[in-house]
Amino acid sequence: KEELNIIQGALELRSKTVEEVLTPLTDCFMLASDAVLDFNSMSEIMQSGYTRIPVFENERSNIVDILFVKDLAFVDPDDCTPLKTITQFYKHPLHCVFNDTKLDAMLEEFKKGKSHLAIVQRVNNEGEGDPFYEVMGIVTLEDVIEEIIKSEILDE
Ligand code: ADP
Repeated sequence: KEELNIIQGALELRSKTVEEVLTPLTDCFMLASDAVLDFNSMSEIMQSGYTRIPVFENERSNIVDILFVKDLAFVDPDDCTPLKTITQFYKHPLHCVFNDTKLDAMLEEFKKGKSHLAIVQRVNNEGEGDPFYEVMGIVTLEDVIEEIIKSEILDE
């Protein structure tokens, strides 16, 4: 029974899109690029439990960096280091995909190993003005794997 589910999940990767499995921007734990790494902000980061944290400038839809929690290993909260110092040092590449990317293609991308988190954007051509790219949320390898095994992966 379970095997059948997994096979079904694997087959559906070809038709499902990242838009169907993403974590919406409003639910993302993010940091403002002008944040300072003091005791408070670092505690909040640790308590969030996430390993990768998008960093935005001015508005949440404008993601400019990704902070890995492991980047904080040598950061002393007493130094009140600007977040920018850390993100500019590590400069993790941003990986963007469109909302209609199929999950099988997304899995292939993740397997290449550049990053296991991608930012999902769409072309917004509603309204009067020119079309623009709009960030919808984030998708990770875990979101794709959950679709294959058809059940939630509980965090440690
Ligand atoms: P982590 O390693 O941080 O637990 P995973 O890649 O295992 O992240 O993803 C677990 C779930 O959490 C996925 O549904 C993913 O979309 C979501 N997720 C990952 N990072 C964040 C974040 N910074 N804020 C909100 N949700 C996130």
